[in-house]
Amino acid sequence: MAALPTMKVSPDAVDFIDDAFLSSLLTGPPPDGIRVRDTIARSLAKKPLSVEETALLLRVRDPELVEQIFQAARTLKETVYGNRIVLFAPLYIGNFCVNECSYCGFQMGNKLSVRRTLTPAEIREQVLALEAHGQKRLILVFGEHPKYDAPFIADQVRTVYSIRDGHGEIRRVNINAAPMDIEGYRIIKSAGIGTYQIFQETYHHETYSRVHPPHTRKGNYLWRLDGLSRALEAGCDDVGIGVLFGLHDWRFEVLGLVAHATHLRSRYGVGPHTISFPRLRPACGAEFTGAVSVSDDDFKRVIAILRLAVPYTGLILTAREDAKLRRDLMGFGVSQIDAGSRIEIGGYTEAGDAQVMEREQFELGDIRPLDTVVRELVQDGYLPSFCTACYRLGRTGEHFMEFAIPGFIKRFCTPNALTTLMEYLVDYASPETRRSGQELIEKELAALEEGPLKAELIERLGQIKESERRDLYF
Ligand code: SAM
Ligand code: SF4
Repeated sequence: MAALPTMKVSPDAVDFIDDAFLSSLLTGPPPDGIRVRDTIARSLAKKPLSVEETALLLRVRDPELVEQIFQAARTLKETVYGNRIVLFAPLYIGNFCVNECSYCGFQMGNKLSVRRTLTPAEIREQVLALEAHGQKRLILVFGEHPKYDAPFIADQVRTVYSIRDGHGEIRRVNINAAPMDIEGYRIIKSAGIGTYQIFQETYHHETYSRVHPPHTRKGNYLWRLDGLSRALEAGCDDVGIGVLFGLHDWRFEVLGLVAHATHLRSRYGVGPHTISFPRLRPACGAEFTGAVSVSDDDFKRVIAILRLAVPYTGLILTAREDAKLRRDLMGFGVSQIDAGSRIEIGGYTEAGDAQVMEREQFELGDIRPLDTVVRELVQDGYLPSFCTACYRLGRTGEHFMEFAIPGFIKRFCTPNALTTLMEYLVDYASPETRRSGQELIEKELAALEEGPLKAELIERLGQIKESERRDLYF
């Protein structure tokens, strides 16, 4: 069996999380309205906020000021991302794991967990099922185990890209797996991955040691904290950070995320492409169900304040949350969601209507089919997007940051959202979703400035509708 990388943290790795300092920023009286409005104005000018400025927003108590934060987050989301919501689905490849994370159904000591690694034939079945639903972007998820070394993960990525059927194809494969060494990231990058995601889970050192026993691989805080720096050094310039909310004080964790984004930006000239903020869910065999629950209202503040703190970073709201809450939270800064998700291993062909806890890492809150989610988004005025153009044209990392400027969305993102939505409507949607989607496309087209870009877009939308031409990205 292959070996996992030796956890040699580079001598340059720094632990940039100072628990006492971050906690101290959260104490003291609530800030006055003028300072809060100044900070909001900075953010609306699309300047990333420092940890100190973010802490100021986190200390707001006055309901009117909280409302101003929500409003600003909505506005910023509109100006940076428009009404697009990018869609993807997770594909769990294997749940063997050597760690003992106390909140996770995959922890090694969990005897109830049904362990399995998908065979290439089973991966094929899963991917064909996902493609048949209209998915174009996947995230492959792995436990941490010698079976899942870098060459193995790279092979799975190549396999997924190679599975095509009719119009079905996966155009972007992201990864959520354990931290690698630099050589490992190079191997994975060569397979053409999109984003490499690693969630720190909690930035608070003491809590980290409590939920990740120090004798386990994941117990090494700095190896994990430095994990995406190594990825960037290896040339994977598209990385995603995250926190598992519910382990420690949510305000502290938001500061941890902002400190991490700031560190990556100052050291590598590029911040994280995405931030994820899963909330702890019940998991089979996991005794730990959270030290601090994060209420729905506080969760809304997490999203809005993150939106303001890191204007150009995508925010991912997962199907851990239930359908109603996801709908309510969508406007506060979310730019990506998973939809049609099943996280039982083999779940896309084997799962029924109910979830089987022994076969999944935790319980999902929203297992509605992709078509239902697309329809709801469209009817709520959002523009679902399956776009994968940027990474395929090399617009990633700092190049992406250069493009994240006014005009970029109009020139690339909205047209690509419209063409990929049109593909979805023509090839996969139910009649009702197709009708609502076509209406939205007409509305979006009417709002676009006249000119060569619009003419070209109309031409391409027509080709998708009337012919077999697909994947016509700008
Ligand atoms: N095993 C790798 C690791 O730990 O980095 C891959 C990630 S794990 C399969 C995916 C993520 O699920 C974890 O990083 C954690 O944040 C989240 N997770 C684990 N248990 C959870 C639970 N009970 N509820 C919600 N999210 C959970
Ligand atoms: Fe393993 Fe990841 Fe679950 Fe921890 S969170 S037990 S590392 S799968």
